Amino acid sequence: MNSAPVNAASPVRAIDVIRKKRDGRELSRLEIEFLVQGYTRGEIPDYQVAAWLMAGVLRGFTRAETAVLTDAMLRSGEVLDLSEFSPTKVDKHSTGGVGDKTSLVLAPVVAAGGLLVPMVSGRGLGHTGGTLDKLGSISGFNVNLSAPEFRRVLRGCGCCMIGQTAEIAPADRKLYALRDVTGTVESPFLICASIMSKKLAEGIDCLLLDVKAGSGAFMKKESDAAFLAELMVETGERMGKQVVALITDMDQPLGMKVGNALEVEEVLEILHGEGPSDLRELCIELAAWMFHIGGKGSSLEEGRKTAIQMIDSGCGLAKFREMVQLQGGDLSMIDDPAKLPRAKHKVDAISPENGYVSAIACEDVGTACVILGGGREKKEDTVDPAVGVVLHKKVGDPVSVHEPLATIHFNSEARGSRAKQLVQESYHIAGAPQAEKRQLVHRVITKTGGAN
Ligand code: URA
Repeated sequence: MNSAPVNAASPVRAIDVIRKKRDGRELSRLEIEFLVQGYTRGEIPDYQVAAWLMAGVLRGFTRAETAVLTDAMLRSGEVLDLSEFSPTKVDKHSTGGVGDKTSLVLAPVVAAGGLLVPMVSGRGLGHTGGTLDKLGSISGFNVNLSAPEFRRVLRGCGCCMIGQTAEIAPADRKLYALRDVTGTVESPFLICASIMSKKLAEGIDCLLLDVKAGSGAFMKKESDAAFLAELMVETGERMGKQVVALITDMDQPLGMKVGNALEVEEVLEILHGEGPSDLRELCIELAAWMFHIGGKGSSLEEGRKTAIQMIDSGCGLAKFREMVQLQGGDLSMIDDPAKLPRAKHKVDAISPENGYVSAIACEDVGTACVILGGGREKKEDTVDPAVGVVLHKKVGDPVSVHEPLATIHFNSEARGSRAKQLVQESYHIAGAPQAEKRQLVHRVITKTGGAN
């Protein structure tokens, strides 16, 4: 690789585009397309794109630049034509959280309720987990399907979960992997372009966005989450899609399990009508919105009823089994979760005092999981599906001195002890219980500028 112009006749050079963004100036369409196309084709090296991304994180992008970037990433592959399918095509995407496994519940539950769910997801990003890595813990499950295979699975069961391919938003696949390991995730403009490019490429009619806010989210402040939500809703509207964003709580991990196989196990608990109440409640709320924007039923309340029915009747679980089978996954792991990958060792993080859990530094729990090997520190790292953290206490719970707060599942002693310390320090204990419980859904943004 060298840093020469991608095309000898091109008037644009990568170094000039990096400098221009470093100095806080607005890039032209030509310059953005040059970088996106050149990087996707492997003609511009990682180090130049990483420098440009960092300049963008620090300097920001204008709305016009964000629109061009989204468009260039979308056009790096094809836009799927799913017009052969009559049900409304709906998807949901989260901006990333810790213990956020709702996609694995929502795709089968919403498909069981009669909508088509073509889902293109990502792998873990920074301290947050990724749907593709979670699915990777089901042996044989193939997330690398071609467009015809994607259609075959959708025809077979009404939902399909894959990663970006050479056909669908390949620019995001490369940029996402680079951002993961270069500290360049936390930009609303880059997150918007990443999410919307792959979502607009999958041939959907409507999209639900789960924009996370809190200590475990990329957007820690609710105002930043609202800015991102509006940016994405506006981008979707411009492309003629119905997009709704929910701002939801990520101030503590969602559910009790964090880590790839552990999270699949918790998904199965929910699909069996069990599992932690916060996770079940959020899955029902998100599914309700997917039914609502997808035109199933006349109200959100009806959407909630359908979601509960699909879970409690076992229809969602049956649909999940069908999808796993059609994507080559080992069904015996679904029928007996004890067969999912297991870590060799466990150790507890212990409470140093009596009191109540007043806060959990949620990002640190996600980082502990990455340290254990459940995420990547370098692009080429392989993920350990078995490791993770099982929480025993959440915010508001009473705790006694020496009582376990969480259990660390690990395969390497050195990683296990670093993760244990981080998880232990992530818990804050206070003398009195918290006065107020945080709501799971903070806000709904249905139209640009129209929050309610
Ligand atoms: N999810 C994505 O797909 N991309 C981001 O940049 C962040 C979360």
